[in-house]
Amino acid sequence: MDDLDDLYQEIILSHNKRPRNEGELNPHDHEAEGYNPLCGDRLQVYVRGGSDQIEAVQFTGEGCAISRASASMMTESVKSLGGAELEAKIAEVLQILTAKEEPTVDPFEMGELAALVGVRKFPPRVKCATLAWHTLQAALRDKNSISTESDD
Ligand code: ZN
Repeated sequence: MDDLDDLYQEIILSHNKRPRNEGELNPHDHEAEGYNPLCGDRLQVYVRGGSDQIEAVQFTGEGCAISRASASMMTESVKSLGGAELEAKIAEVLQILTAKEEPTVDPFEMGELAALVGVRKFPPRVKCATLAWHTLQAALRDKNSISTESDD
C-alpha cells in the first residue's frame, strides 16, 4: 500500500505544481466562489455550458496543495459531462472523500481521481479536497458562494 500512497501523493503534487485549466474562463455562464475557513482555501470556479452539458470549467484561487490539486482534477474530469453522468461523478468523488467506511477505489476506472482517497488519511484536509466539487455544484445552481462551514 505504501507504493500506492506515494503514487497518490505524486499525483496531488503534480496537479498542484502544474494545475490544469487554471485562469478565468471567458466567456462563462456560471461562476461561484468557494471558501474553506478551516484552511483558508479560496477558489473561484467558472463554467461554460451548464448541468446538461459542461463545455469547459476553469478555476482561480489561492489555497493549499490539496485544494488546488482537487480543483485541477475536477476541471479535467467533469469536462463534457452532463445530466446524470455529471451528478454521478460529483457524488462518486464526494463519497470517496467523506464516506464513513473506507471506499474501494479502482484506479483503472477512476484514473487520477483515485488519488483523492489518500486525503482520507488526513481528516482535517478532507474539506480542502471537497471544496472544488462543492463550488462546482454551487456554480451550476447559480449560488454565488459557498463555505465548507455552512450547512447548505
Ligand atoms: Zn486546504
